[in-house]
Order: sequence, then structure tokens, then C-alpha cells
Amino acid sequence: MVRQGPESTVSVITPSRAGDIVMSDIPIAAPPAPEADILADDTPCRSCGYNLRGRRTDTVCSECGTPVMNSLGSNQLQFANPAWLAKIGLGVRIYAWAMAIGFAAGLTLGL
Ligand SMILES: [Zn+2]
Repeated sequence: MVRQGPESTVSVITPSRAGDIVMSDIPIAAPPAPEADILADDTPCRSCGYNLRGRRTDTVCSECGTPVMNSLGSNQLQFANPAWLAKIGLGVRIYAWAMAIGFAAGLTLGL
């Protein structure tokens, strides 16, 4: 007798040689992934601005290779244009060094 259990296992009941009933779970393959959506509206790629309309959400931008999902996310930094993030990171590092040098100079000069 086979009974369908949770998604990842199947419970199998078999009689043993001693006459007992043995129940065991056998893993089964994961269910197929749901089909990806197709973008019906004009959606610019976050990296290059290319219009992604008509593309599947599980593919990448045909112009720059950025995953389409990155352009569908919220305004969180993890979905931002990587080139823009690199520029912002450089600006933060320059500002931090300027502050450190200014603080050290102030201590040295007794200001
Ligand atoms: Zn792109």
C-alpha cells in the first residue's frame, strides 16, 4: 500500500517476514517549479534600462545579463544597479578616510 505523504516523501507500508507491518518514508523528487511569469508591462532593466516587457521572470536581460527578477524587486539596495552601488561605496570610503584624516590632523595640531 502506498500513501502520498508530504511533498517530499511517500509513506510505504509493507509486511515484514515476521508478519509485522513496516511503515517507511521514501523520498521523492521535488514537485516541478511553477512556471515563471512573463512581464506584460514596460519594465526597465535596473542595470541598463532595456525594456524587459515580454521576458520571463526566470531569465536575464538580453542586453546586460542582469537577472530579470532584480528589476522587479523593491527599492532595496540588494536590487540596485551594481555599478551605482560601487560608486556609492567608493564615495562612502572616501568620506570615511577624509573624516579619519581630519580627526587625526585635528588631534596632531591640537585643534
Ligand atoms: Zn539590462
